Amino acid sequence: VFSQIARAPEDPILGVTVAYNKDSHPSKLNLGVGAYRTEEGKPLVLNVVRQAEQKLVNDPSRVKEYLPIVGLADFNKCSAKLIFGADSPAIHENRVATVQCLSGTGSLRVGGEFLAKHYYERTIYIPSPTWGNHPKVFTLAGLSVKTYRYYDPATRGLDFQGLVEDLGNAPQGAIVLLHACAHNPTGVDPTVDQWEQIRKLMRSKGLLPFFDSAYQGFASGSLDTDAQSVRMFVADGGECFAAQSYAKNMGLYAERVGALSIVCKTADVASRVESQLKLVIRPMYSNPPLHGASIVATILKDSNLYNEWTVELKAMADRIISMRKQLLEALQARGTPGDWTHIIKQIGMFTFTGLNADQVAFMTKEYHIYMTSDGRISMAGLSSKTVPHLADAMHAAVTS
Ligand code: PMP
Repeated sequence: VFSQIARAPEDPILGVTVAYNKDSHPSKLNLGVGAYRTEEGKPLVLNVVRQAEQKLVNDPSRVKEYLPIVGLADFNKCSAKLIFGADSPAIHENRVATVQCLSGTGSLRVGGEFLAKHYYERTIYIPSPTWGNHPKVFTLAGLSVKTYRYYDPATRGLDFQGLVEDLGNAPQGAIVLLHACAHNPTGVDPTVDQWEQIRKLMRSKGLLPFFDSAYQGFASGSLDTDAQSVRMFVADGGECFAAQSYAKNMGLYAERVGALSIVCKTADVASRVESQLKLVIRPMYSNPPLHGASIVATILKDSNLYNEWTVELKAMADRIISMRKQLLEALQARGTPGDWTHIIKQIGMFTFTGLNADQVAFMTKEYHIYMTSDGRISMAGLSSKTVPHLADAMHAAVTS
């Protein structure tokens, strides 16, 4: 019955790794997928994660019973505190409904499904450009996806004017997807002052903020700084959605651990919202997995482990920042034409180089460097040893 089935294209981001794996060249370099690597180019399991796993293994009271539909209670509580701040009035007033979901993607999807079912304005505005999975997640959840201007290729910075115009023209009540920090793929974030203007504009039009927080702590190295945008919206007492991922900041990529929080106006509304979230989750995957959430809860509940985590997190963020400096210096040393200072101005895991699809294809063919065709490179995949190779390739791509 499936003999006529068409072959689907590879995922534009994960497909880069598929192509990389097929290449046997010794100096091949994968800068496609957003996963942290050490200076030696190896994946990293955080020391605090190993310690938490050890604690869990040694606890004889642990069983493998199903979790509730909403997930592990401790994990949900700690996750809300992490993003909104331990002293958040929304938490103290029990106005937050938090459910454990399958990493950031699952949290976005559950939030999207909930909105498609229960919210009157089914249009979501996502930034242009944005993470390639956003339009698919929200379309399949049943929302209508539109874009707002975000990035200005001329300045390689924020198109603030365009953003304000587009959100100003959005219909009353529309949902707006915002990257909490370290915007993917551009690495360009609004300033605090710009966030405040966005907040005022959105609240004046009743636009509903849906934050995607996939990089808390990874951008600046500080968990609080990277959550500032979200906290500004929660501080005004209005509704707010937040999807959290622990893939990057705890290196728990494959454990698929994340949370969706919906900040409501009252505790009563939050509890009704939670009851409806259960109806979204139950027929989708019934209930979430235990292991990753237990690791996160163990770390967040233990002040020693928590403090150690912040140190390890900062070390990852700092290594990425140092890669930015090294790449800029390497290009300047080669006299590569153009202004490359955006490499150190952009933040988070990615640099939006400004290289076009032809230049990317050239770098892959001639230098075995793999990256998405929009010119995005994962700074976390670079090391001092590979920076010169990348700089050579970029120089050749720009000058050939
Ligand atoms: N949102 C953004 C902006 C991302 O970059 C990512 C990861 N690439 C995600 C969400 C979701 O990642 P995960 O499902 O692995 O947590």
